[in-house]
Order: sequence, then C-alpha cells, then structure tokens
Amino acid sequence: MTQMRLNKFLSAAGVASRRKSEEYIEQGRVSINGTVVDSFAVNVDPDNDEIMLDGELIKQEKKVYILLNKPKGTVTTTDDDKHRKTVMDLIKTEKAVFPVGRLDYNTTGVLLLTNDGDFANFLTHPKNKITRNYVARLDKPLAKGDRERLEKGIYLDRRKSFFKEIAFPIRNNYRVVSVNVVEGRNHFVKRMFQALGYFVMDLERTNFGGLQLKDLKPGEYRRLSNGEIQKIVKLNE
Ligand code: URA
Repeated sequence: MTQMRLNKFLSAAGVASRRKSEEYIEQGRVSINGTVVDSFAVNVDPDNDEIMLDGELIKQEKKVYILLNKPKGTVTTTDDDKHRKTVMDLIKTEKAVFPVGRLDYNTTGVLLLTNDGDFANFLTHPKNKITRNYVARLDKPLAKGDRERLEKGIYLDRRKSFFKEIAFPIRNNYRVVSVNVVEGRNHFVKRMFQALGYFVMDLERTNFGGLQLKDLKPGEYRRLSNGEIQKIVKLNE
C-alpha cells in the first residue's frame, strides 16, 4: 500500500468524515508512531505506521471493490421492504458492501459495490462530473433535431440538462442510442428521452468512470483490479 494523507486515512478507516478527522487532528487527539501530530497534511503508510485516536489503535478495514453486471428485475438497495430480489442477493463477500449510486429495477450493466465510503462519495458527488455511458433502446428512432436538443440541453426539473455525447453504436439504427452523462439524478436518462416524447424500452450502463463490464454476463460480478482502483483513487487526489 502506498502512502496516504492522514485525514484520508482516518476517514477511509471509518473513524469520521474527512472534515471531522481534521478537527480531531487539530485537537491533538491523533498520534503517529507515538508522536502527536497537529497537521493533517502529513502522509502515513497504513501498513506500517501505528496511528492512534485518543490512544486507541486504528485498524484499516480491508477494502472490497466489486463490479456487478446488474441484471433486470433487481433492486439496487441493501434491503428491500417489498422483499424483491436485490443486487445484494447476487454477491458473496467477506465484508459488507453497499452499492455506489443506483440503477433502476430493469436497468442492466455496471454497478459498483464497495465498503469504501470515500471511493463511493467521489464517484457519485455531482461536482466531480464522473462520466457514465448508457445504451438506451428507444421505442422509435431518435430524430436529428432531438439529438441536437439533448446535446445542447433541455430543461428537466427546471434545470438545464444535457447528454454530453450522443452516438449510434449500430449503423443505421437510430433507436439504439449511446449517451454520456455526467450526473446521477434519478431516472435521468429515461426522463431526458421522455421529455421529448421517447420511451426507453431497455437501458444498460456500459461504463462508469472508465470502469467497464468486460466479459461479465448479467448477474455476474468481478473484483476491480488494482489498476482500476488506483485510476479512480488518483482522480480523487
Ligand atoms: N437513468 C435512468 O433513467 N435509469 C437508470 O437506471 C440510470 C440512469
């Protein structure tokens, strides 16, 4: 493991939010290898340094990063009050994980699950404008003028909203539309198309922050590789 900022270490270990962790440091409650530190700008090595809060050793929880190809007919939640099948029913992990954002019941594709709160917050916070790619199958071909409107921006929830990029992955088929989106509002893709009179028949997320399904079939999942995790962590530095 590489070095990381002390405040980030504390929040990643589940001690408190980064902001709160900074307060603890300023209050002189945190020590590294027996020495109290007063700056959160210091780097620590989570594998070798002994970091304490109020004299108690902080253990870094093992982080788990899973990419699921979410199948249709599953709810993105850790617990569904209507007892429907959830994405949690599909995965077995040694640590409790939670979904990063959500996909609708019948949406398929890339869904991340982790126990790393920092990682999840970074990917879902609107200010970070992380790109998601969706492929939508519409009830009718997308007209040229509507494509332009969706790229330029329309009003949704009284906010100017747009697809960053629109493409047609299948030649001469304007019903299957690939869109890049930099936000995670609920039902965003469906509602954007609906606003112009289109109905989304099928929706698949093929990419989230550069992370792709590779050869996963719906219902299958894999661990993210170290390279994939580090790419996201670096974006967050
Ligand atoms: N937009 C939608 O409309 N549905 C999803 O599941 C994800 C994005």
